[in-house]
Amino acid sequence: MAVKMILTYPEFSHILKHKSEPVQMADPDNKQVIQDMKDTLIYTEHGVGLAAPQIGVLKRIFVLRKDMINKDLARDSHIAKTKDEVAVFINPKIVAHKGKVKFGEGCLSVPGYSADIERAKVVKIRAFDENGNIFYERLQGLAAIAVQQEMDHLDGVLILDYEKK
Ligand SMILES: [Zn+2]
Repeated sequence: MAVKMILTYPEFSHILKHKSEPVQMADPDNKQVIQDMKDTLIYTEHGVGLAAPQIGVLKRIFVLRKDMINKDLARDSHIAKTKDEVAVFINPKIVAHKGKVKFGEGCLSVPGYSADIERAKVVKIRAFDENGNIFYERLQGLAAIAVQQEMDHLDGVLILDYEKK
């Protein structure tokens, strides 16, 4: 069990604004990084998701808390079938999206700040799970919004960056 410090803006901008690298699935370090991400997310009070760069690891991995997103999962959901309370997405890619929604978003790396950001309402994502199996997941509601914010983290984009556009 290792709860890591969540890096925040602006002190750690140099890391948070960096684009993350694809994960080599055979890398023996993956297991520890994923466990640290799970422990850190569960330790937060309101966090729905956490991306690896938020704990200082520039790899394309994010995790979501399942109890926060259960109602947003499709009937044939892959992550609903796993027993763990945290869902893991490795080398994720959004392969389809639909609709638009605006929601006041917060971020663990930008404490005390929220921004109304327009996102896709429904997303279909492809990723690898922690056992190396590829899976597809169709998400809506809070889960879809969280996925899009976590994907942004992997590309070095923060919720602050939307205001400036
Ligand atoms: Zn965030």
